Amino acid sequence: MVSRTTDDYKAMALAGCAAICEPAFWAGFDRKSADGFYDYFCQLTQHEPARAQKLGIPHYSWLCINSKESEDMGLAREVLALIPEFLNAPNVLGIGEIGLNKNTRNEMKILEEHIDLAVKYNQLILVHTPHLEDKRKGTRLILDALKNNPKIEPHRVIIDHVEEHTFKEVIDQGFWAGITLYPESKASPQRAIDMVETISSQRVWLNSACDWGHSDPLSVPKTALEMKRRGHSVQAIDNLIFGNPIQFLSQSKKFVRPEVI
Ligand SMILES: [Zn+2]
Repeated sequence: MVSRTTDDYKAMALAGCAAICEPAFWAGFDRKSADGFYDYFCQLTQHEPARAQKLGIPHYSWLCINSKESEDMGLAREVLALIPEFLNAPNVLGIGEIGLNKNTRNEMKILEEHIDLAVKYNQLILVHTPHLEDKRKGTRLILDALKNNPKIEPHRVIIDHVEEHTFKEVIDQGFWAGITLYPESKASPQRAIDMVETISSQRVWLNSACDWGHSDPLSVPKTALEMKRRGHSVQAIDNLIFGNPIQFLSQSKKFVRPEVI
């Protein structure tokens, strides 16, 4: 939402979006200093919640340095050191979106340090899986890194951007899966519902790619329409796009079950 207009918030409110959760991500350019991230974390924990509240939408966030910028380990460790002071903010649900971009050794090390941070502060985890390099290999590296930490509870971790070839493995190992919807590339509404129909409708949520690139903040409600067109029941649609995210997010005490219009 940091790269979106207030009109987008309004459209989401009109479409019935009951809550937003926004991960810390790569904002389209590499930030030069930890100070840049400090300001970004203030934006995610103070300014965006206030902007969303004007449209009546609760706004939650996740904090980290994304994998793309964590190739610079010196910068990454400075940013990691900033995170604890923001974890007490009332809208912060956990650590994310952490993960891998090009599956490099430096990215892997910083991923492990984020996992340790989440364990230390008992936080939920949101994971980004690579779009650029081998997604299956990256997903397996991430799942192994999570399982190597004996204190990680898979049901408190969501592995995002799953596709047909990674979804089942994520679910089978006890984690949650996120299907990220894009207008054209990657998971379209049709592909997402194909996956839900053939792989799992449990322990999965849908989310909108909603950034500075070509993306659509209304892709979740549009996918609900696709389910309706295919003859899914109102209950099945509600379970997938509303009940499942609430079930996952309610594992954080800070998440308040939203009222529905
Ligand atoms: Zn991502």
